[in-house]
Amino acid sequence: MAAKIIETKAGEPMTAKIIDGKAIAAEMRAEVAKQVAKLKADHGITPGLAVILVGEDPASEVYVRSKNRMTVEAGMKSVEHRLDESTTEEELLALIAKLNADPEIHGILVQLPLPKHIDEGSVINALDPSKDVDGFHISNVGRLNTGLKSMVPCTPLGCLMMLRDLHGSLAGMDALVIGRSNIVGKPMAALLLNDSATVTVAHARTKDVADLCRRSDIVVVAVGRPGLVKGEWIKPGATVIDVGINRVPAPDLGEGKTRIVGDCEFESCSKVAGAITPVPGGVGPMTIACLLANTLTACCRINGLPEPEGLTA
Ligand code: NAP
Repeated sequence: MAAKIIETKAGEPMTAKIIDGKAIAAEMRAEVAKQVAKLKADHGITPGLAVILVGEDPASEVYVRSKNRMTVEAGMKSVEHRLDESTTEEELLALIAKLNADPEIHGILVQLPLPKHIDEGSVINALDPSKDVDGFHISNVGRLNTGLKSMVPCTPLGCLMMLRDLHGSLAGMDALVIGRSNIVGKPMAALLLNDSATVTVAHARTKDVADLCRRSDIVVVAVGRPGLVKGEWIKPGATVIDVGINRVPAPDLGEGKTRIVGDCEFESCSKVAGAITPVPGGVGPMTIACLLANTLTACCRINGLPEPEGLTA
C-alpha cells in the first residue's frame, strides 16, 4: 500500500502531513476485493460475514448499513440478523451457535452495545474464535498479547496499517497510547509492542500525559474528549493518530448544528506534528476496511489457504 498523504498547500502555516484515511481505506478495500475475486476463481470460495444487531440503536444502524454495503462491494456474502430489543441471551447464543457451524460464514460480528439484559462477555466468548472478526474473544486477546496469530480488533489494526504505511518499520520508535480500553487502547499497545516500538500507555490516572507525549515519536489518542491533546504536547515531527469521535456544538454552521471532532486540538497539533490523522476522514474509514480484511483473513485460515499479504498485523 502506498502512503496516502494530503500535501499541505504552499503558503499555508500547517506543517503536518494530513494522513488520508479515506484514501488508504479505499485502497485496502480494493485490495480485499481483488483477493476475494481470486479466492472465488481459484477455489470457488466466497468469504461470508454475518452481522448481528440487537435492538434499534440509531448509531449502530448506520454502522451496520455501511458494513453491509462495503462487504457486498468487496464481493463477499453479507448476512444481517436484526433481532428485537427483547431477544434473550439464550436466543442470541443459539443464533451464534448456528453461525459458528455455518460453513458459508467466516466472520461473525455482534454489534455493540447490546441491550443491558444481555452479558456482552458471554456473547463474545461464545463466538468461534476463528470467526471473531472483531478480535474481542478472550482467546484472540490472549493470542495477540503473546505474539501469536489472532483476529485483531479493527480500529487499532487500522491505526497500525496507517503507521506502517507512513513509517515502514516502527522498531525502536517511542509510542504513547492514550486510553486503555479493551477495544482500542490495549490492543493498540499490544500491536505496537509486537512491531517492536517502545510503548507507554496513559489513562485517566496518569500523572503527566503532556510530558509523556512530548517524548513520543508516535501518539495514538483514544479517549473520547475533544481537544484533550494540544499542539504544545507534541514532539516536533511526531505522528499523531486521533481515534476519538466526539460530537460538539458548531454554532458557526448554524443554530443547533454540531460537528464531529477528534481528541486532538487539530489546529495546534497539525502545526507541530510531522503527520496527523484528521477527524473525520482518518481512523474511521480504516475500521470497516479492516473488518473486510479480517473476514478475508478468517476465510483463508478456516479453509487452510495462505492468508492475504499486507492485510493483517
Ligand atoms: P473508553 O472505553 O471510554 O476509554 C477511554 C479511555 O480514555 C480510558 O482508558 C480512560 O482512562 C482514558 N481517559 C479518560 N480521560 C483521560 C484523560 N484525561 N487523560 C488520559 N486518558 C484518559 O473509550 P474507547 O471505546 O476506547 O473510545 C475512545 C474514543 O475513540 C471515543 O471517542 C470513541 O468514540 C472513539 N472510537 C473510534 C473508533 C473509530 O472507528 N474511529 C472506534 C472505537 C472508538 P481510565 O481507563 O483510567 O478511565
